[in-house]
Amino acid sequence: MFNYKNEEAIVLFSGGQDSTTCLYWAKQTFKKAHALCILYGQRHSLEVDIARNIAEEAGVSFQLLDAPVISQLAPNSLTDSSIEMDKEQPEGSFPNTFVPGRNLLFLTFAATIAYAKNIRHLVIGVSEADYSGYPDCRDNFIHSANATLNLAMDKNFRIHAPLMSLDKMGVWRVADELGVFDVVRNKTLTCYNGIIGEGCGVCPACLLRNKGLEKYLSTK
Ligand code: ZN
Repeated sequence: MFNYKNEEAIVLFSGGQDSTTCLYWAKQTFKKAHALCILYGQRHSLEVDIARNIAEEAGVSFQLLDAPVISQLAPNSLTDSSIEMDKEQPEGSFPNTFVPGRNLLFLTFAATIAYAKNIRHLVIGVSEADYSGYPDCRDNFIHSANATLNLAMDKNFRIHAPLMSLDKMGVWRVADELGVFDVVRNKTLTCYNGIIGEGCGVCPACLLRNKGLEKYLSTK
């Protein structure tokens, strides 16, 4: 386990399962964690209220950054409700829930805010074991972004992706180990249809989350 008890971290935070687990991981790892919630025209602004409540309960500061420009760059089904969401991964491409450039922009925003606050640690809840294989969730991208941000601002940022090698079952285990299993299970929003906790049960995000939960509970 890392120990950065004298340092602070900014956590990219959406109020979902992964970033909430990361928020509590950061709370335990650093002297202080700050939640940064970036709005980019998602379907559910309800996400913001949920995220703010989780951060409040966790006792960490909450900053909201409105970046609607992200939804104006490339069509995707997360920000454009007229596009029907892919239920499965199309042959040879990413599902249309992929928001091109998002994590690079998120990390750039987070690093710029961190620069101004003289914070060097950034935390992001990506995993390359995730089903869809988004390129900006992979370990090599995170290392590359880290190097680029350091060069861009002449800083020594350290990007942490504590869930990188974990599937959803593993993420549930981490939440349990951090003592926040129930918080993550009941208060987070992962569902693409905006239903908190267990969710709608049928969207791709729910299927993934609930399959991982079932698998984890069967190991207990
Ligand atoms: Zn759902």
